[in-house]
Amino acid sequence: MLPQDTNLGLVPPAGANDTAKDDSFAKHSFPPDGLVALSRVAYQQTPLSTSEVRRGVFVFTGAGGNITAIEGSLGCTVVDSGFSPRLAEIERGLAATLAQAPRWLINTHWHFDHTDGNAAFAAAGATILAHANCRVRLSRDQYVPSLSWGVSAAPRRAWPTLTFDRPIMLDIGAEQLRLLPQAPAHTDGDVAVFLPSSNVLVMGDLFTNGSYPVIDESSGGSLRGMVEAVEELLPMIDANTVVVPGHGAAADCTRLLGFRDMLRKIEDRILALVEAQLETREIMSAQPTAEFDPLWGRGYATGMHFTRMVLAGMGLN
Ligand SMILES: [Zn+2]
Repeated sequence: MLPQDTNLGLVPPAGANDTAKDDSFAKHSFPPDGLVALSRVAYQQTPLSTSEVRRGVFVFTGAGGNITAIEGSLGCTVVDSGFSPRLAEIERGLAATLAQAPRWLINTHWHFDHTDGNAAFAAAGATILAHANCRVRLSRDQYVPSLSWGVSAAPRRAWPTLTFDRPIMLDIGAEQLRLLPQAPAHTDGDVAVFLPSSNVLVMGDLFTNGSYPVIDESSGGSLRGMVEAVEELLPMIDANTVVVPGHGAAADCTRLLGFRDMLRKIEDRILALVEAQLETREIMSAQPTAEFDPLWGRGYATGMHFTRMVLAGMGLN
């Protein structure tokens, strides 16, 4: 194992040109008290925690979306690249665990908390793989009406260079990774990654452990799509599978089932209110998530945020 100050090439050494700042590419606009603002404070302040979920498979939680690093024969594979202001810590975490240069970076979708570090990983030699729609969204300005959130296009160096829209296998030595593009769910460019030998499923934001998920209606996301994506993936896993969410601690099949059940119950409640022809405003004040808020509404996505995103995903604004 290499010392903790090992430079893997993600962050330039002190004294070099500070290109890391330039790599913090996304120019955002969002309301100061909205979900995006709250999420950025959380990504800035949450301590980075590391867990070895299987031999040679590490999950880093706290610096944006979860980052999963997998040992390989010719360098490591990393799933999602985190929030770029935390890159130095992420690099130290990788150096202290696998101590392998990143060879492959897989993006689970385009959102900044999963792709902000892309340019730095590419500069360190990683090839970026993603759903074809993830590249399209990173390469163009985006606007999410339900969150009043605008994001500028990423520079070309942050774009995935290898894209797919059908399942592919990536042989990294110890594992034959299965990269599984999904029908529109959280966005229209979601990818889940299954590690058959280690029995680990990395879900990106198709699963958030202990918080409501974001549903990005501007990218084709919907609550129905989320439920269907989870149900498509469930037959692949068993009681021993480690299920890595996009946010929150690594979990298991039981926890994922609880998440799916929560989504379905909230969907039923909202659909009943929609069918009763309530206005969007009335549906919001009926608080259809209230029963679930103590368990799932503790993150930056409150029950109100979630309801608004679900309605936007149904075409109701
Ligand atoms: Zn996301």
